[in-house]
Amino acid sequence: MTKPTCVALLAFVFTVSGCAAEDLMTRARRIQSEVIGVDSHIDTLQRVLMEKADIGKRLSDGEVDLPRLREGGMHAPFFALWVPTFYKGAEAIRRMLDLRDAVQSVFDRYPGEIELATSAADVERIVRSHKIAAILTLESGHEINDDLAVLRMFQRMGIRSMTLTHFRNNNWADSSTDKPQHNGLTEFGKDVVREMNRIGMIVDISHVSDKTFYDTLAVTTKPVIASHSSCRALSSLPRNMTDDMMRALGHNGGVVGINFGGGFLNQQQAEKELANINQIGSAEPNLTGKALDDYTAAMWAKNDWRHPKPTVATLDDVIAHIDHVVKVAGIDHVGIGSDFDGISDVPRGLEDESKMPALTAALLQRGYSEAGIKRIMGGNFLRVIREVIGK
Ligand SMILES: [Zn+2]
Repeated sequence: MTKPTCVALLAFVFTVSGCAAEDLMTRARRIQSEVIGVDSHIDTLQRVLMEKADIGKRLSDGEVDLPRLREGGMHAPFFALWVPTFYKGAEAIRRMLDLRDAVQSVFDRYPGEIELATSAADVERIVRSHKIAAILTLESGHEINDDLAVLRMFQRMGIRSMTLTHFRNNNWADSSTDKPQHNGLTEFGKDVVREMNRIGMIVDISHVSDKTFYDTLAVTTKPVIASHSSCRALSSLPRNMTDDMMRALGHNGGVVGINFGGGFLNQQQAEKELANINQIGSAEPNLTGKALDDYTAAMWAKNDWRHPKPTVATLDDVIAHIDHVVKVAGIDHVGIGSDFDGISDVPRGLEDESKMPALTAALLQRGYSEAGIKRIMGGNFLRVIREVIGK
């Protein structure tokens, strides 16, 4: 082959492969614009409350704001109202109300951009009107202060989901990152699950111990979710789910949202993540009121989750976890639960919410159908919302 012919051939090959890559991203962006994208766990409200972050504008740090949700096609995020477990009793209720007020301030400031969604029909209507549909979720169960009346009032404030525990056990459920205390769910814990089923709140089993998970499945009459967990077979964190748990979740009709934290995705990062979990979970300051809020703000600033640390985890790890859930539980039982704005590192290639089309392109490349990708990106969670809330 002459040199000019060789150069021409190489140019042709590069042009064709370049076109193929571009076509894939164009298709991915179209899919993301058509799908109702659900990210089942983001911690962005902490930034609204503690940093007064204006999420209506594109922020230069962190992973989520309204422009990046739109760009990524994730129009229906679950905003977590996370209260650390060191907020005890009525203090936890007060902190939850502060977070509910913070998200209300976003709704009031940007009525043309974002709206509270309390049903599947709401989600569809709001997304159709080109707004972000905000689904509110409690993290975690200690926020109800062991009182079903408080749970019911939170539901009336528009809360539609609750993770039963966080890093520590509460008075009625064991956590995956604490010493077993109740052998799973107590009798009151089972009542909490029954009441959530009755009033249309999604039970979230991310963070609970394995025994609490199985106790929950034995009691619930509705599908449950693991809003931000990944596969323990691929990264051995207690926060991740075993294959047996994912099979059981599949039989229940539930969905696991893949967590994008490096330790959740990649075994090499897992040890570091464990140290981080233990550090967050071990704090027990003997404070109340403003002093406690100041302590929390200092802890938040010290963790500096706005600036993710380097990680070996990549977009390919996310694909591996999605593939694994599909293999073990089926494609109807996997979704996206990034944990953005609450993780210390983010996978390379999926650095923030705007990058979601890259994940869709990678799924297309792996041979996933458009219909299957749409279920993964949000259709599966929307089904659970409809089944649990009833409309
Ligand atoms: Zn969490």
